[in-house]
This record gives sequence, C-alpha cells and structure tokens, in this order.
Amino acid sequence: MGKYGSIKLFRLFGIQLELHVTFLLLVAWVAWSSWMDGGGAIAPVIWSTAFVLLIFTCVVLHELGHCLMARRYKIPIYRILLLPIGGMAQFGHIPRKPLRELFITLAGPMVNFLIAGILRIFLGSPWVWFNADFQYSWIDLLFSLMIFNFAMGLFNLLPIFPMDGGRILRAILALKYSYLAATRAAVYVAMPLAAGGVLLALVYENVSDVMALLFAFIFVGGQLEYKMVKRSELLRGWTVGSLASKNFLSLPGDTTVGNTIEVLGARAIQLEAIFLQDRGGLNFISPQRLQNIVARIPPDDPLLPFTKPMPAYLDADWPLQFLSGRLEKEGPSIYPVLRKGVLVGVLNSNNLPTGFFDK
Ligand SMILES: [Zn+2]
Repeated sequence: MGKYGSIKLFRLFGIQLELHVTFLLLVAWVAWSSWMDGGGAIAPVIWSTAFVLLIFTCVVLHELGHCLMARRYKIPIYRILLLPIGGMAQFGHIPRKPLRELFITLAGPMVNFLIAGILRIFLGSPWVWFNADFQYSWIDLLFSLMIFNFAMGLFNLLPIFPMDGGRILRAILALKYSYLAATRAAVYVAMPLAAGGVLLALVYENVSDVMALLFAFIFVGGQLEYKMVKRSELLRGWTVGSLASKNFLSLPGDTTVGNTIEVLGARAIQLEAIFLQDRGGLNFISPQRLQNIVARIPPDDPLLPFTKPMPAYLDADWPLQFLSGRLEKEGPSIYPVLRKGVLVGVLNSNNLPTGFFDK
C-alpha cells in the first residue's frame, strides 16, 4: 500500500491506476446493504456489486479521456486515483493555453456520452428494456449503466469549478480575459451553485448525503485552486534571485562568537541571516538568536556549534512560480540562495510579495 492509503493496481496506456482503500469499503457496503435489502437473496448482491464496479470502470475511462488528450499536448500524467466519490487524474501541470484546457476537459464527459451511445445502440428498442423479467437481468444492468453514463456526462458539465464544466467555463473566459480573472469568475459562478448543491442534497431525501459531501469538496476545491492560481500569477516572471535579499553575512566556519559580534557591530543595516561556510556545507544562525546567546558564551568559543546546517538551498535562477507549492509546504523559513555554487543572497519566505501565503 502506498502513501495515504492508495493501492497501486495496474498501468493503462502507461498511466498508473491507483485505488484508495476506502473504495473497497464502498464496494463492501454496497454488497452488504443490498444483501440486507434483498432479505438474503443473492441476485441483488451480484447485481449491485457488478453495477458499482461497472460505474467505476466508466469513471476510470472518463479520467483516461482527460489523460490521453493531455498526453497529446505532452503534459506529464502522474496517476489516476479512484476514490469513493469519483476519479482524479493528476497532471504535471494544467495547460495555460485555454484551448488545450478546453479540449482536455471536454474529453472526459465525451467518453461518458460515447459509452451511453454505444450502450443505446447495443440495447436496441426501448420496448425490450421494460420486459417483465427486467429486474436484476443483464439488460437491466446495461440499461442502468447507459442512464448513469448519460447523467455523469451531464453532471460533469455543470459549470461548478473545479468540475469539468467549470474548467470549460474558465477556458472559454481565458480566451478573452486574463487567466486569473477567468479563474476568479469561474469560482464566483461555482460558489453559489456548489452551496446550493449541498443544501439540495441535504434537503431532498432521495439524494444521498454523499452528494452533499461531494459538493462541499467541490466548494472548497474551487477556493483552493483559485488561491493557487493567484499565487502562481503573483510570482510569474520572478526568479529566486530577483526576490533574494543581500542582507546576509557570510563567515568562515571557524569564526568565533566574539569575531562575529565585531563584524556585526560594523554593520549599519539589519541583517536577515548569518551563514558559516564550513567545508562545503552551509550553517545558519539568525542575528536575533546570536544576540540571545552572546551573553552566556565566552567570546573565544567557535560559533559553529550554535548554528544549524542548511540542508536546502535555492538557485538564484529558479523561477519562483514553480517553487510556490514547495515553499508553502515548508512554511516560513530562510533559504540560502546560490548562483553557480556561490552564496549570493538569502530568501526569507516570510518576505515574499503580499498574498503569497494568504490564508
Ligand atoms: Zn472529468
């Protein structure tokens, strides 16, 4: 089992298919509840289990539609993950070209309409579907699957970002407006719809509570993605070097505490970091911490034991846009900035443009 409880199944067109363990619980729950409802009869159990598995096969095919279209544009695809609430295809990035996003997004629901169309041809006359022996027959199964695919195709086209319909809306808006403005508009359209979806699902008895949960996820998902786009837009065109500060001090590894205080005293500006360079490794101490410890350490003691090694550094030429996720994950911290192996600055992720860590 992988991280976060996902089970690797097999590869489809080279794309790893993973199953979340909770998915197995769903299948077990469906089988068990149809056993209870059917009073111990076996036919409903087989029927419902087969139906759930077929539904999720169609969900995988839907995601595969997105993936294969994305691959045409050379976008890396990490995996397709199956959760009890649906499927999720994970791409390396979402394309900035609106038409590409439009085609990649459309490809998913189109797969559902294609499956529904094929089943419609296969099932033939509607008269057959409502035969007397209809219940729990394979025709019943395929008929239900046809209806499901048609409904899933339509449902995904609802303009509730980040659902497919919302992405399509964003892509269309992005043809005329900026990517950020298009995302904002799509999220504003989605919010009342998703909130309405939660309420409707809770109020109407015949709609499952899972739907309410799904709409709640969509509501939150839209906000998160908008923040991500906003942050990435803010950092577009900036490199690490362009935002790094030169207010740092670099000293040899054998520097004593007294020496450091002397050098510091000669500086008029407020420093952000003191680095000690020790045999290829960089160690860090903040000026504040130095002030705090200086009173209880003899001046001739080396400073090195009071510093901490810096495992991570940033290259001055790296674009900040692609680092935003990593920087946010690690939280506010200090990074030494190197260019061609030479220390040229310090990046304090606290001092990034306003809105970077807006929470
Ligand atoms: Zn989709």
